Amino acid sequence: LKDFHYSHVLILGLAKSGTAAAKYLIKNNINVRVNDMNAKENDVSVTELKTMGAEVIIGSHPISVLEGIELIVKNPGITYDNPILVEAQKRNVPIITEIEIAGKLVPDSIIGITGSNGKTTTTTLITQMLTESNVRTRVAGNIGTVASDVAQELAEDEKLVLELSSFQLLGVKTFKPRVAVLLNIYEAHLDYHKTLKNYQQAKCNIFANQTSDDFLVYNADDPTVSNAIKRANSQTIPFSVKHRLVDGVWTDNSTIYFKDEKIIDKKDIVLVGSHNLENILAAVCASKLCGATNEGIYKVLSTFSGVKHRLQFVANKDKRMFYNDSKATNILATQKALSSFSKPTILLAGGLDRGNGFEELLPYLKNVKAMIVFGQTAEKLKQLAETAGSKAIEIKGNLTEAVQTAYDLSEEGDVILLSPACASWDQYRTFEERGDMFIHAVHTLM
Ligand code: ADP
Repeated sequence: LKDFHYSHVLILGLAKSGTAAAKYLIKNNINVRVNDMNAKENDVSVTELKTMGAEVIIGSHPISVLEGIELIVKNPGITYDNPILVEAQKRNVPIITEIEIAGKLVPDSIIGITGSNGKTTTTTLITQMLTESNVRTRVAGNIGTVASDVAQELAEDEKLVLELSSFQLLGVKTFKPRVAVLLNIYEAHLDYHKTLKNYQQAKCNIFANQTSDDFLVYNADDPTVSNAIKRANSQTIPFSVKHRLVDGVWTDNSTIYFKDEKIIDKKDIVLVGSHNLENILAAVCASKLCGATNEGIYKVLSTFSGVKHRLQFVANKDKRMFYNDSKATNILATQKALSSFSKPTILLAGGLDRGNGFEELLPYLKNVKAMIVFGQTAEKLKQLAETAGSKAIEIKGNLTEAVQTAYDLSEEGDVILLSPACASWDQYRTFEERGDMFIHAVHTLM
């Protein structure tokens, strides 16, 4: 582990990332103490780490865990007002997250993606574009697998694409991606970061340590981003869905360009939604910088139907196009989904009632000829549909019945869209379960 001068490290919060970091450090002969509030004595990770030689303290966060500690690796979910972290800061004990270790292991191989929205989609696109271009690539981070775990196994010629949350980036000390992507900065997670400025700063940590050898791909249409990147020392490359750019990725009505090179005709792209166009431009830019070919990029964009449950194209059945946007658990997401289609649409919506109204959907219902509504909010959504002059049908059963009803109502050329604008917990355990049921219902339609 290059430039790692600590011999006594505290891992705060076990979970997947803490366990991976602990194991790695122990293997490198570093003394590890682990502290976790919720872990149990007989958890596999606890027994395993103990066998390996870690000191494990669970069930509470006593200040004494700081005794003799030179560095803390904390779980991204733990906030800095945790008493141990407050005390550590007083004692000038550095606090990092696990991505710092990944950064030290493979400093030249990382492509890092952050932003308030679009991270998973862009991370997936970049990974696929590189893979289709025969550039060996692994993916990790916020998207599922632990960055330092994958970094340990990474081959010399492999790239590591990392989805990075603001929580992971907040604790950055020396971490830097070779290619960073900054998608957008909205007001989000203010419960954790307290102020918008802190949140912006965390996002900007993605390029804070970059040098002139590195690249920063950024959204030129987002004023907060464009302003922030003025502080970057890396080579900045913009993307824009609005303006022609001589030095970046841009688009006109029909085509996507990298500088003045044609990349793909928009009509060949499967992914829908103007927000996804931004993700596509960012991905084209980052993957080209890492050796993707235009053929590889074309292959992905002409086949990739979206990350599961996020405005995912499911099937074309009898000339009806089915889309699964089960992840749309709020009004904003459903507005985005509805804006993505100009064809007559049948909207499947409803779910957990959080007490809010749905009037803000009204301007987006122009193409919606019918709404199939269900769950606790069925009645409210039915009224909304009637105000909009669309047909409204309430379903008492599950999504199988809703899909069949939508299909029976539909005509050739229609879009049938599940974008519930509500959480799923009144009827389903997760939005994934809800989306899976929709997909199954589409594939088994009579
Ligand atoms: P994240 O990983 O940042 O949560 P996803 O790619 O999973 O992002 O997309 C989640 C949702 O965020 C999508 O369903 C869509 O509603 C919205 N979204 C995706 N990309 C963008 C973007 N570039 N700008 C604004 N909203 C977006």
